Amino acid sequence: MSLLIVGSVAYDSIKTPFGEVDRALGGSALYASMSASFYSPVNMVAVVGSDFSEKESEYLNSRNINTEGLIRKPGETFFWRGEYSFNLNEAHTLETKLNVFEDFRPKLSSKLKKSQYVFLANIDPDIQMDVLDQMVEPKFVALDSMNLWLDIKKEKVLDVISRVDALIINEEEIRQLTDEYNVLTAVKKIFQTGLKYLIIKRGEYGVLFFEKSEPHKIFSLPSYPLEVVKDPTGAGDSFAGGFMGFLAKADQVNEIQLRKAVVIGTVMASINVEDFSLNRFKAIQEEDIYKRLEDFRNILHFEEINV
Ligand code: AMP
Repeated sequence: MSLLIVGSVAYDSIKTPFGEVDRALGGSALYASMSASFYSPVNMVAVVGSDFSEKESEYLNSRNINTEGLIRKPGETFFWRGEYSFNLNEAHTLETKLNVFEDFRPKLSSKLKKSQYVFLANIDPDIQMDVLDQMVEPKFVALDSMNLWLDIKKEKVLDVISRVDALIINEEEIRQLTDEYNVLTAVKKIFQTGLKYLIIKRGEYGVLFFEKSEPHKIFSLPSYPLEVVKDPTGAGDSFAGGFMGFLAKADQVNEIQLRKAVVIGTVMASINVEDFSLNRFKAIQEEDIYKRLEDFRNILHFEEINV
């Protein structure tokens, strides 16, 4: 089924305790699209500047990512500089230059408006709302955001949340969003908005998946244990991309498929963080994903216990 992903395409300068890169390709839409494209064709909507090479677009097209919605404008591509200390769960933003994103308002073609699965990756909530307004009866819409937008446009983020099916957000952000420290209290509060599903990303500790019901259904999954983590940038977007790509492929939104999608998201995030930028996604083959999935299944397995 058709999957649309809107978000940022960026040049990132990143420093972690294990190395650094300057102006490497990144952005929320790009990480999510690369991850999703292992499962489903993707239509990516974003804007780039004149510094973005045509070769990159051609590469994305060769990877099942349609760039018809990738607008090129005079000026510079979005730029993000971030740094991590040994706590790889927390990115420190040192610089954000919106550049061509500043006044970007995407106009979707009639084909893209009819996409069934939509991921509004982290970007200005005004842009997310703009895209949502253009969609014609999507089946499933998921949303991500970040602390910057919660600092300066919290009300707008809440408006968008009230119109989507699922929110994929990290633990600190759900606290900031709801002004609640306890995660379960925060979940109760956020479900008052009409949201049906909530996924809380907990970095190296895994994810919590909640379905709105009485009582809430919860699925808790650890992350895949890794010895080498070079760069956590894009882990959340890779999770969301795998999650959405899998759902779009299954074309069924029910508890079983959602749980499988959470597993796939976790596996894709674990692959992405093994190297900087999109290097791992560029290098892996499908067999690498199957292998990781099988290892993960073995790690998670335990027999029924009679006590
Ligand atoms: P993640 O590590 O999953 O939170 O995503 C990191 C990616 O988000 C990087 O590639 C950045 O370019 C991108 N990013 C950082 N800040 C923003 C922002 N304010 N809006 C959109 N994308 C951003």
